[in-house]
Amino acid sequence: MVRKKSSATKTSERMNLKGLWIEDYEKLLGDLGEKRYKARQLASWIYARGATDFPQMTDLSRDLRDKLGQMAFVDSVKLAERHISQKDLSEKLVFELSDGQRIETVLMWEGKRVTICLSTQVGCPLGCTFCATGQMGFKRDLTAGEVVDQMIALGEDRITHVVLMGMGEPLLNYDNTLKAIRILNDEMGLSVGAKRITLSTVGIPSMIEKLADENLKIKLAISLNAATDAKRSELMPINKKHPLKELIAAVKHFAKKTNRGVSFEYVLIQDINDSEQDALALSKLIQGIPCKINLIPYNRVPDLPYNRPSEERVLAFRDYLYPRCPVVTLRVSKGEDISAACGQLRA
Ligand code: SAH
Ligand code: SF4
Repeated sequence: MVRKKSSATKTSERMNLKGLWIEDYEKLLGDLGEKRYKARQLASWIYARGATDFPQMTDLSRDLRDKLGQMAFVDSVKLAERHISQKDLSEKLVFELSDGQRIETVLMWEGKRVTICLSTQVGCPLGCTFCATGQMGFKRDLTAGEVVDQMIALGEDRITHVVLMGMGEPLLNYDNTLKAIRILNDEMGLSVGAKRITLSTVGIPSMIEKLADENLKIKLAISLNAATDAKRSELMPINKKHPLKELIAAVKHFAKKTNRGVSFEYVLIQDINDSEQDALALSKLIQGIPCKINLIPYNRVPDLPYNRPSEERVLAFRDYLYPRCPVVTLRVSKGEDISAACGQLRA
């Protein structure tokens, strides 16, 4: 799919510095006749310290701050709504972007582990039939700045983990997502360890292969959701274009190349993919792949004809799978009462 890449927004004259990174700042500073090493200071002000005004950047010369103020600005997403779950300490945040579009971000508190779930697109073009985001269609890609800004604008310094699992398909916004990951990971950025960053994808084989070459130690999660092409194509139209054989080959390549396992996410939907036969097909499909399976009981989406299986059936599926697959976890969804749980995000 070829789509126009979004880059940092240029207003009529001034340039948005959020979403640019060290190499871009070096070029900019070079053009201004300044020392390139100041790029790291600038990055640190914008990302690590969340500065949006140049006068704040006190270790840059006044002359440079003035020059920057004339030709650039630092954009920021605006927190428009904050909903706190009554059930489980999760929070749904709605951010408004400069063009008025809205995206959702989720914050989950589990003891010392605090996870932020970031969006990478406004909407999603892939239209999985069970997913709320998939139903709203695709509006546009987020810039790298908008991806990381969901975390910066919150100003919450207790976040320990990042999952790229909110609205959108990160591998269809590849360049911006990768840039965002580098900013999240770098100490001039948000200092989140690579092993604490997980990218969740529907699984686009060529992009998984590309990701394998990036020398990034982030975790990869693949949304499998069905173990036969017939079922998967019905739930996830992308499977018609890239059937399981292709996907599994790409995942095997990724695991071999990076010497790391992956996780498979499997949303359990009542009477669709929750039988013993489905569990058996799943265990066969992943044979020989170093992986864990993350079972996610379906979260209901208004107007969609899908339901969550009973707890009994969820546990039976897990138990049937367990001896056949190395690691199986059951994800307790958070934020269901505020429509912040997996797949319930729509602006
Ligand atoms: N587009 C990416 C990342 C965002 S979706 C992807 O598909 O992986 C994040 C996860 O939510 C996916 O694993 C998806 O299968 C799951 N999901 C979508 N709708 C859901 C729902 N209603 N209940 C539970 N999980 C859902
Ligand atoms: Fe898009 Fe992921 Fe939802 Fe599918 S599950 S529609 S890929 S956000």
